[in-house]
Amino acid sequence: MEHSPRQIMALVRADFKDEVLRSRSIWLCASCYACTVECPREIRITDIMYALKQRAILEGIYPKRFPIPILAKEFFKMVHSKGRITETLLVMRLFLRANWRAVLSSWRQGIGLIRTGRFVLRHERIENRAQLAGMLDSDLHDERRITPKEAA
Ligand code: SF4
Repeated sequence: MEHSPRQIMALVRADFKDEVLRSRSIWLCASCYACTVECPREIRITDIMYALKQRAILEGIYPKRFPIPILAKEFFKMVHSKGRITETLLVMRLFLRANWRAVLSSWRQGIGLIRTGRFVLRHERIENRAQLAGMLDSDLHDERRITPKEAA
């Protein structure tokens, strides 16, 4: 991590918004909740990390070609439009947007997975997609009102 959780909290409090949102550290948080459990001041650090990731995606200022925010964004787009993810297509979109060379280097494994039926190339989808999209949109609308500083 380029910044420790303690440094991230200090930057949030000091209003260094751009530096925090451009940091790779928030994307490396594995949500283990160890810092939240141990924090002597009972700061909800893991929740703040989530809020920062959401804010970075909403504002589009996450580190470019860094795979984790791209995966999160593509995951959301696929669930929003189809109601569920199709792993094959999600992985392909991730590779193409984050590192297209990885597609070329792993094409043999991809073909093998498709041949054995473990990767499907058609979209999987649920029936009432519009209802789910509406729920996600209203939830997203609520999230936009919360700032990481408010969560601290
Ligand atoms: S939740 Fe776990 S991984 Fe995330 S900042 Fe805290 S200790 Fe690190």
